[in-house]
Amino acid sequence: MIFAIKPFEIHDGDGIRTTVFFKGCPLRCQWCHNPESWSPKKELLFDAELCRDCLKCVSLCDAHIQSGTSHLFERKNCTACEKCVSVCPSGALEIAGMELSAEEIAEEALKDELFMKGSGGGVTFSGGEPLMQVDLCVDVARRIKARGVNLAIDTCGAVPRSAIDQILPFVDTFLFDIKAIDEQTHVACTGVSNKQILENLRYVDSLGIPIEIRYPYVPTMNDMEDERIACFVKDLKHVTCLRVLPYHSYAERKYARMGLPYPLPNVPVPTKEEISAVVEKLKKCGLANVSTF
Ligand code: SF4
Ligand code: SF4
Repeated sequence: MIFAIKPFEIHDGDGIRTTVFFKGCPLRCQWCHNPESWSPKKELLFDAELCRDCLKCVSLCDAHIQSGTSHLFERKNCTACEKCVSVCPSGALEIAGMELSAEEIAEEALKDELFMKGSGGGVTFSGGEPLMQVDLCVDVARRIKARGVNLAIDTCGAVPRSAIDQILPFVDTFLFDIKAIDEQTHVACTGVSNKQILENLRYVDSLGIPIEIRYPYVPTMNDMEDERIACFVKDLKHVTCLRVLPYHSYAERKYARMGLPYPLPNVPVPTKEEISAVVEKLKKCGLANVSTF
């Protein structure tokens, strides 16, 4: 179950990359900009701002209700069967989630193979958490590596050790998120403990695989974690860089399309100066390669 395959990505590892977004995630980060990645199942997204109340969908399904001359969406009645999507003239209805075979995913992901190879790029598995579907990941990865293409795995790390072991033979680089070192802060930010995540990170490091650490910096949530993260990362041996990912609120409309309240309505977006100061602080903690996007 995939929710997107995006070509020409430049923020998901080295060079030009195609990123495969796997659906399903064990974390619920408050700042997540891909809430459609959380569930491992297909979901219907409804954009009330695009709906023109044409009512063409109403006769198709109990989830679409006529109220006077207006349309109402009753999400609990929706089974994501997709029937209504094609009748909507305004693009208000969209399905998040595609069931594709490993062969189909690899074929799509390798379309820009020449650009990827020419730029030192490759394919990145992201999500959601790709390793929640580790058997599918391995099947796609085998096809990608058979063509000599670089493979990066963008993981939250909250997966069984066995999933890491299964994918290891195919991975060139891990992109590994650290949201917080303090466990209580981590639970408050993501809903889960960071114990397994940090153990898996130490394990991957012990195997000598290059790791890019990613620190999503979210004011009022985990902005006090910078020095703790620096101390933790300094003890790792194979970190190529630490990237600070500044919080943004572009995903607000996605939450509305899923019928969810936006979790961080009052969190300020950090300024460039604030992010530069965080980068400098991390460098002063002794980390050689710290950057941001
Ligand atoms: S996706 Fe299927 S179940 Fe959901 S609202 Fe549309 S027609 Fe109904
Ligand atoms: S078909 Fe689309 S535009 Fe028409 S009522 Fe349904 S959701 Fe709204």
